Amino acid sequence: MALIVQKYGGTSVGTTDRIKNVAVRVARWRAQGHQVVVVVSAMSGETNRLIGLAKEIQPNPDPRELDVVASTGEQVTIGLLAMALKAIGVDAVSYTGGQVTVLTDSAFTKARIESIDDKNIRRDLTNGKVVVVAGFQGIDAEGSITTLGRGGSDTSAVAIAAALKADECQIYTDVDGVYTTDPRIVPEARRLRTITFEEMLEMASLGSKVLQIRSVEFAGKYKVKLRVLSSFQDEGEGTLITFEDDKNMEKPIISGIAFNRDEAKFTVTGVPDRPGIAYQILGPVAAANIDVDMIIQNVGHDGMTDFSFTVGRGDFDRAKAILDQVKAQVGAKEISGDKSIAKVSVVGVGMRSHVGIASNMFRTLAEEGINIQMISTSEIKISVVIDEKYLELAVRVLHRAFELDQVEA
Ligand code: ASP
Ligand code: MG
Repeated sequence: MALIVQKYGGTSVGTTDRIKNVAVRVARWRAQGHQVVVVVSAMSGETNRLIGLAKEIQPNPDPRELDVVASTGEQVTIGLLAMALKAIGVDAVSYTGGQVTVLTDSAFTKARIESIDDKNIRRDLTNGKVVVVAGFQGIDAEGSITTLGRGGSDTSAVAIAAALKADECQIYTDVDGVYTTDPRIVPEARRLRTITFEEMLEMASLGSKVLQIRSVEFAGKYKVKLRVLSSFQDEGEGTLITFEDDKNMEKPIISGIAFNRDEAKFTVTGVPDRPGIAYQILGPVAAANIDVDMIIQNVGHDGMTDFSFTVGRGDFDRAKAILDQVKAQVGAKEISGDKSIAKVSVVGVGMRSHVGIASNMFRTLAEEGINIQMISTSEIKISVVIDEKYLELAVRVLHRAFELDQVEA
């Protein structure tokens, strides 16, 4: 008998028929003697609809009240799923985040989980019940409802699995696992049987939408055994997220190609090359809560240098306004912005012990005439910024160059 936490995303509970299917799947695990906690999202589209309603009232909704509204989608699905389970003879009970209790800080719309009281859940499991918990939500010390940020149900599930020391946390979604890259761009993309937690973290932060990044961080911190599976297939082992120190794991050099179109680039030219310049340019950007990703400062010449960095495309206009002010202060010559860039990354823990990955990547792009605008590396990834119009080509040729279409041994 194992203790399993299962999470079903919005598409998996998108209709009442699908909720009934989830109930059947949960019942099967229960019938095998396992204890099951189910975490659900709102029905697909519902959270967007609720946020839309709030914005009709207040263009910039009050964050506390927005969470009161946005959290209700999950309250509907927990009740419906618990009913669906009872309807097929499985004893079940639903809990909102506040009823569990999932205690968070008070950062409305992006709260962080501080602790989870597992008393109610444990008691119900011991009494043979399936426990259905609302994802995405918690409660702060004042008793206000909070939400964990978009896609936050993944984090709810992993956090509950960590609190219960569950044997496995299964994330059921509309894909059957984590792929070497997006199959819509590369039809030969393969499902990975395993991926390390570090690689998954890179893939998530580099644009793969399979798991909310915070859930992966959580899984890494608490060593939660995490698996991504399809809720639309009966069989299949999905993708298991492993830890690199797991013994006898055969690790491929490269696990995947991630990409992100959601980026923009700024270049500040003719900046005086003196101490404090990076801070003078990026300090105000950071102060406005704008995330900066890649940064390049060129070698100075004649007392001048050029400075480039990327931000999320959604922050482009705000960043531009800040830079226009900064320009005069630092005495820069020109600011140029480019919204038509994309970032492509190769990810793999095997990079640590292999040389030549970067040169293979650069040669592959060069052979297609794709110009690299920026490069950044970490121990387990190499990212380049290129013109967005070459993104799909780049992903395809890199997938082939690193033989990701070959079946795993
Ligand atoms: N319903 C929330 C959202 O749409 C949380 C989730 O689905 O994970 O972001
Ligand atoms: Mg999701």
